[in-house]
Amino acid sequence: MTTPQAPTPDELAALRQRYRLERERRVRPDGARQYQPTEAEFGYYAADPYAAGPTDREPLEDTVDVAVIGGGFGGILAGARLRQQGVERVRIVEIGGDFGGTWYWNRYPGVHCDIESHVYLPLLDETGYVPEWKYAPGDEIRRHAVRIAQRFNLYPDALFSTAVTSLTWEEASETWIVATDRGDAFRATYVVTATGTLSEPKLPGIPGIEDFKGHTFHTSRWDYAYTGGTPDGGMAGLSRKRVGVVGTGATGIQVIPALAEDAGHVYVFQRTPSTVDVRANRRTTAEDVGADHEGWAGERRENYLRIVSGETVEEDLVADQWTASAGLLEKLLPSFRRQGDRKTFEAAYETADAVKMNELRDRVEQSVTDSDTAEKLKPWYRYACKRPTFSDKYYPAFNRANVTLVDTADTHGIERITEHGVVVGDTTYEIDCLIFATGFSVGTSGIHSGKLPVHGRDGTQLLHAWARQGPRSLHGFTSNGFPNLIQMGPLQNASSVNYTHILDEQAVHAAALVAAAEAKDALVEPSREGEDAWLAVLAEDAPDHEWFHAECTPGYYNREGGGRPNGPTAYPHGAFAFHELLKRWREESIGEVLLRTRTPARSS
Ligand code: NDP
Repeated sequence: MTTPQAPTPDELAALRQRYRLERERRVRPDGARQYQPTEAEFGYYAADPYAAGPTDREPLEDTVDVAVIGGGFGGILAGARLRQQGVERVRIVEIGGDFGGTWYWNRYPGVHCDIESHVYLPLLDETGYVPEWKYAPGDEIRRHAVRIAQRFNLYPDALFSTAVTSLTWEEASETWIVATDRGDAFRATYVVTATGTLSEPKLPGIPGIEDFKGHTFHTSRWDYAYTGGTPDGGMAGLSRKRVGVVGTGATGIQVIPALAEDAGHVYVFQRTPSTVDVRANRRTTAEDVGADHEGWAGERRENYLRIVSGETVEEDLVADQWTASAGLLEKLLPSFRRQGDRKTFEAAYETADAVKMNELRDRVEQSVTDSDTAEKLKPWYRYACKRPTFSDKYYPAFNRANVTLVDTADTHGIERITEHGVVVGDTTYEIDCLIFATGFSVGTSGIHSGKLPVHGRDGTQLLHAWARQGPRSLHGFTSNGFPNLIQMGPLQNASSVNYTHILDEQAVHAAALVAAAEAKDALVEPSREGEDAWLAVLAEDAPDHEWFHAECTPGYYNREGGGRPNGPTAYPHGAFAFHELLKRWREESIGEVLLRTRTPARSS
């Protein structure tokens, strides 16, 4: 293997220029408004194709200890950690027909997790399960979610095919009233929200989308009744069909090779090519992953988190493309690694970035035989402007006679959809089935999207309060005026690519808050001063990613090419340091959020 050459200053200047042009080709004046939520007349794109249908049941008006909103990994982990704290009545409310969240919905052919399964699947130590593949298929992950729910006895109280429609704090009883679309109005002493970051599928707002007369669905609601087959392929229903796929993000990269195998013809409508790095999936043994002693999985995932958080470790246990590229992800990481002169840092970073991106562009050239197609598949932006993807099957799919790449960058995406086809430039592509791999409203769901109104003390609505003053919280979990409401998710805390690890630490914290409040017969609620102090911590060392994002092609990482977030959004020193901070705070300062104001009636 030859060592990649560092680019010369002239080559770097040319790359900068090319990246700028490619960004300009794609930035749209309507930014994030270009998308269409899967609501109202488009609501059928979000309907549940997997549940047998809501089962009849009487509305509930009872009282539980904790209502957990969401039955994905966040909610399941909250349930498990609450059980470990001895909490008895935990009711998880979930829109889907079973547990699993992302992995309940995303069953498209080829679905896998691109984070190593031995660090991604939570509670492996506790459940004794050892995944068989380095990168697990979606079904194995979904079954693991079910395993955890069974192991921690979360099924008996769970409500499926049920959407929470409002949360209302009742001062007199010091409980939350949880209302649902099934007529429930039950009470909960605590509410934990775990509504996910990728739960609301979105569509592009393409003119004419509603006119299409062929078959259509979103990848997160795969219609196997139409395609036939399973997530492993065998989609006989598509063998004579012309299938259009919109989107070439992490989902598109996994689904397109599977469609290429089975469909009559596949038209891939690409707007921005992803970076597609080596996958090298393989079977693993317990020995390979060091699963020979108690706590092996916890150690492995901590090792991984340290690496992708920019910490130094002696050994890289996972050793894959994520950990190998961790240095290049630094720009999305905290500022503490940005020591010394910023210009020097940026220059060194830019060179390393160009080497990696050249390697990825070379990979396209070596894999795709038609040079025009290869040219269109090359990503022209800095590493991780778009979420990195991994596949050994994606590029070879374009060497097949039944796969056509249609580049839509010059027209800012597909221009129009007609009754029977997709229009790009002067060409109408006649298709039978149109599949949207166009992703989700990232980071917004439930209480943050406004679909789930939360009324706290004095009837104050959470989003109204935040619209005036910006989001306010302590550690992202709790907010003044909203007692016993504990939020999980991406708000004012720290995140990482291995999101289930983040969720598990959040679940541990949520359960500890509940346990501490129970022990002291208190309410969980931070003071305004506590929130102010936390906001100051977030602001103090806030990393400035704008220099990087400002040059990126548009996408959800940079709010479709423009706009700054409303206030500091993340703990500046990264997920590993955040977890340490939470642990210390639980040991030393948890009393700060415990208000001893519970009514005598509740405490007796
Ligand atoms: P993304 O939002 O990442 O990608 C959407 C795709 O649709 C992009 O290629 C986008 O192009 C394209 N698109 C949008 N509008 C148009 C249009 N008008 N015309 C043409 N193309 C259009 O969605 P994904 O479902 O791929 O991923 C969603 C999330 O799920 C991501 O966070 C991803 O990381 C995660 N995921 C994780 C996996 C894992 O293994 N861990 C697997 C799959 C997904 P453009 O880039 O130009 O906007």
